[in-house]
Amino acid sequence: MPRFLQNLFLVEIVRGFALTLHYMLFVPRATINYPYEKGPLSPRFRGEHALRRYPNGEERCIACKLCEAVCPAQAITIEAAPRPDGSRRTTRYDIDMTKCIYCGLCEEACPVDAIVEGPNFEYGTETRTELFYTKDKLLENGDKWEAQIAMNLAQKAPYS
Ligand code: SF4
Ligand code: SF4
Repeated sequence: MPRFLQNLFLVEIVRGFALTLHYMLFVPRATINYPYEKGPLSPRFRGEHALRRYPNGEERCIACKLCEAVCPAQAITIEAAPRPDGSRRTTRYDIDMTKCIYCGLCEEACPVDAIVEGPNFEYGTETRTELFYTKDKLLENGDKWEAQIAMNLAQKAPYS
């Protein structure tokens, strides 16, 4: 079609509207209405840290300090002491989340699957202080997310 006829009948605009209608009516939306809708999350996603327990309630961590040693950001601080029964446990387990780079090395180094990066990514805070995680906070995270964490660990085990 000659150029002047295209301009006269607004062909480009009609084509543009047709394309818009096509996407509106026939193509699935690429966006989601977060936070009411959430996208899929890989079982290997590295989110907020958590300390896990065994099913009997005993904490898994044996205070070997491998996670502290391997952490490239030096975000983990551990102090340990033996219990009266002779078992070794942490008396302090802190993670400075403002330093953490979410590399996942702590999780990989842990021989008992105690420290993990869980599926939670919604833990924004208003102050830096709230991002200094203590052992209590980490154990609380573990208790809260254990079901999802255990499922994710089982799913990614064949690839570890
Ligand atoms: S994810 Fe990496 S940077 Fe963060 S605490 Fe673990 S080892 Fe350190
Ligand atoms: S979390 Fe795991 S690697 Fe870190 S001190 Fe405890 S047992 Fe060792």
